[in-house]
Amino acid sequence: MTAVAEPSNALAQVRALFGPSADIGLRRLVTGPKALDRLGELVRETRRAGGPIVVLTDATLKRAYGTDLTTAVLSRLDQPKPVVAGTPGHATVADPATVADAVARTAGAGVLVTLGSGTISDIGKVAAARNGLPHVVVQTAASVNGYANDHSVLLLNGVKTTVPSAWPDVLLIDEETLAGAPPELTRAGFGDLISVYTGSADWALAGELGVDHGYRPDLARLLSGAATAVLPQAGALPGSAAAVAALAHGLTLGGLVMGMAGQTAPSSGTEHAISHLLDMAAGATGRPHALHGAQVGVAALVAAAIWDHLRARLTPSARVDVPEEAAARARVLAAFAGLDPGGAMGERCWQGYAAKLRSLDAGTLTEFLTRWPAWADAAAPRLEALAGALRQAGAPTRFSDLDPAANAERARWAIATAPLLRARLGIADLAVVTGLWTEADIDAVLDRLARVGAGL
Ligand SMILES: [Zn+2]
Repeated sequence: MTAVAEPSNALAQVRALFGPSADIGLRRLVTGPKALDRLGELVRETRRAGGPIVVLTDATLKRAYGTDLTTAVLSRLDQPKPVVAGTPGHATVADPATVADAVARTAGAGVLVTLGSGTISDIGKVAAARNGLPHVVVQTAASVNGYANDHSVLLLNGVKTTVPSAWPDVLLIDEETLAGAPPELTRAGFGDLISVYTGSADWALAGELGVDHGYRPDLARLLSGAATAVLPQAGALPGSAAAVAALAHGLTLGGLVMGMAGQTAPSSGTEHAISHLLDMAAGATGRPHALHGAQVGVAALVAAAIWDHLRARLTPSARVDVPEEAAARARVLAAFAGLDPGGAMGERCWQGYAAKLRSLDAGTLTEFLTRWPAWADAAAPRLEALAGALRQAGAPTRFSDLDPAANAERARWAIATAPLLRARLGIADLAVVTGLWTEADIDAVLDRLARVGAGL
């Protein structure tokens, strides 16, 4: 394994980029084989006098070291008080009632130890923030990149919403535990990992067009370097401990970089917009959606195909036409009317989209198009490579392969609506302002995806 793929270096790598004075809330990152054996010592060092060790987890059975992981964690701690979030037999959801219950039952702890995957860690980070608790997170799956940062994704009014919470003081990543996680969680983590290619390409585009002045190529390079170290090991996922450790390293770096950059742009572009739209569509009908990373992986292929479409069709002499506000607003409201006939969802999205339109300058766009072919050759994500890697990992490449599946109508709506969701600029916005985001263009993108076994 190369130095880049060595998990214990993630915190040092991020410190090197943000400088010695940068205040990273995550104090300790402890990874590796048998990392769990250090739990007792880490909790003792982190604990504040006067309160018990409270262990927050959910009812999902977790196994590692041939035994029940929750029992293994509790046995390493001094008189721990377990708190189980959610209802046994149901997937834990970070809705307001579940979060409020966790906050109430962890109050007064001397240290909070959260044991679980993305959702439970998001709940734990909110409980630690609201109760002002020192916090140790024991990550149980390499499923998302959200463990190592100071934000949580909660389900508010049926919509997944990113809210500020708090960095864990300590993140413990035990390799054997991750390798024993449910395979679909690891595959989803791989889907979330590859979003660095499409997300950072969108971020670079936003930088070129003067929409995001915070673009940092060094951060994008760090994240894509870690992801590129995992791609050759995709076929060894989810069973190989080494491949899962490399995946966890890439995801941890992603979380740290987004936390330090104060925004998710380094790893959240068009592919995350499509995934959020699928979540919103499912939430509006009260139905579950697929795992975040599984959706993101499928949608990253869509984003890569949009890049391919523009590389084939967009010429330096193309006419630039930034949409006029009244027409654009009508288009956004119409896109969300089916989900929320009251119009509040459409209005919220319009606020973001309007800000994006106002930041677009026709002169800058026209100048950029003269450089587009060469720039895009270097910046564009590689569709075939990403589709091949997802397939090798056994991860879905089509919306119809998701569990539960997103049907063709819903998937197409999410693709078409991706540029209208928010203020962040992505490749589909370039298609919109150059007249290449018609129904025929979306058909062409779907045809491109079908040729690599991806898409609907
Ligand atoms: Zn993600």
